[in-house]
Amino acid sequence: MSNGTTYSIIVPLYNEELVVNESYRRLKAVMDSTKETYEVIFINDGSKDATRKLAEDICKNDENIKLINFSRNFGHQAAITAGMEFSKGAAVIVIDADLQDPPETILDMIAKWKEGFQVVYGKRSKREGETKFKKLTSSMYYRLLKSMTSIEIPVDTGDFRLIDRRVCDALNALPEKNRYVRGLVSWVGYKQTSVEFVRQERYAGETKYPLKKMLKLAFDGITAFSFKPLVLSAYLGGSMLAVGFISLITVIIKNIVDGLSVLSLGVVLSANLIMFGMILCSLGIMGQYLGRIFDESKDRPNYIIESISYYKTADQKHELIG
Ligand code: UDP
Ligand code: MG
Repeated sequence: MSNGTTYSIIVPLYNEELVVNESYRRLKAVMDSTKETYEVIFINDGSKDATRKLAEDICKNDENIKLINFSRNFGHQAAITAGMEFSKGAAVIVIDADLQDPPETILDMIAKWKEGFQVVYGKRSKREGETKFKKLTSSMYYRLLKSMTSIEIPVDTGDFRLIDRRVCDALNALPEKNRYVRGLVSWVGYKQTSVEFVRQERYAGETKYPLKKMLKLAFDGITAFSFKPLVLSAYLGGSMLAVGFISLITVIIKNIVDGLSVLSLGVVLSANLIMFGMILCSLGIMGQYLGRIFDESKDRPNYIIESISYYKTADQKHELIG
């Protein structure tokens, strides 16, 4: 056990003023019931509302709570990464702030950890209060990801999971940018299992994952673990080339036989549009990889911390650090 702390709970916060107090209340009730030592690490990912003030107030009254403030919004995955790097616990649990992941499930995860599992991920048996679009696209995406990668990324899981200190240290040693944490957890291996839970409705407020952020995360997942899109675009190019040759030979023969062109202008234009579309798609796929290589080569940090707040009880008095 590291530094005497048994559990570290990592909670990313982005404009969560409507949920942060309730989230704290539910987490505290669950973690107190373990009768073991714990720290809750809130990561304020550049919130523009009252999240920071509310989280600071919580820190002032509870020495188990720590708060990391980013200098701006770096994104959910960067927030989780910071939490993991800062955490001290023998087991580390990542959970969303909006109570869609029920804190009570942490107790089931802990039970599995005590049985000897080093990764316990939350598997969504049912999803409540989410749009049909989100459920459908997410289910399709996880299946696509599974078909494209050689490592076992479990379907229907998010970042709600418990990892052992050893797994956390292994993840912290990976230097890559544009992190897809749930994929990296599968990649590092160790003894893994799942616990099922019903994904709840968001407690309050709106999702902080608009389509743009969801797409970025989806591409991070695929590009970090698979070359298949590049291979597929090469196959596609090869097939188009073959079709092009066959059609060219057919047209020449037809022209020779009856002196007419079999291709109307419309057909030629449509074929061109399809081919240009495919070329641009392939370039786009390459761009997704290239952009990420660019990010790696710049080697900028995944996030910048503006301040860290927590109260320590040294000399029997509470003191604000950071
Ligand atoms: N989040 C974050 N930074 C962001 C977006 C989201 O820290 O840029 C946090 C957010 O506060 C929440 C978690 O990530 O605790 C998951 O976000 P959300 O619940 O909005 O996503 P959804 O459940 O709708 O996919
Ligand atoms: Mg949510």
